[in-house]
Amino acid sequence: MGSEPYEEAIEALKKLLIEKEELKTVAAAKVEQITAELQTRTSSGKKAFDPVETIKQGFITFKEEKYETNPALYGELAKGQSPKFLVFACSDSRVCPSHVLNFQPGDAFVVRNIGSMVPPFDKVRYSGVGAAIEYAVLNLKVENIVVIGHSECGGIKGLMSSALDGNNSTDFIEDWVKICM
Ligand SMILES: [Zn+2]
Repeated sequence: MGSEPYEEAIEALKKLLIEKEELKTVAAAKVEQITAELQTRTSSGKKAFDPVETIKQGFITFKEEKYETNPALYGELAKGQSPKFLVFACSDSRVCPSHVLNFQPGDAFVVRNIGSMVPPFDKVRYSGVGAAIEYAVLNLKVENIVVIGHSECGGIKGLMSSALDGNNSTDFIEDWVKICM
């Protein structure tokens, strides 16, 4: 692509279309396409983040580079799972246990929550975590339970700085992280 200024580029296009009128329909379609593409860019010219496209591309990459290159593993996993680990990890986007510990699909049954908490037995308050532990231990018979903490954990910071007098400023977070008390 040339580096001529915008005005010159537009003039060149106009000139071309005067000479070759039959290209007008094609040009109109191209201009429409460019306009649509430019609308997705931010003021700094960068392509704007597209969440749907990100998910689509992520899945395509997984399918092409992992799923289709290892049919034996995924064929086995389609029949069932027998993970060796039950892992408690923080919801923090930076510490995905599969990345940090290089788990492959089928290796780990994972519970993620704020601060990697393992709450006490309570059928009402913590039934979600209780169900995960029950299923992993009784049905899947996992042999190893791992709790992963991490530096700069917002959940633990919240616990250390929260008022212990019951005057919560959040609906859920402070009560949740107090499990760690
Ligand atoms: Zn954390």
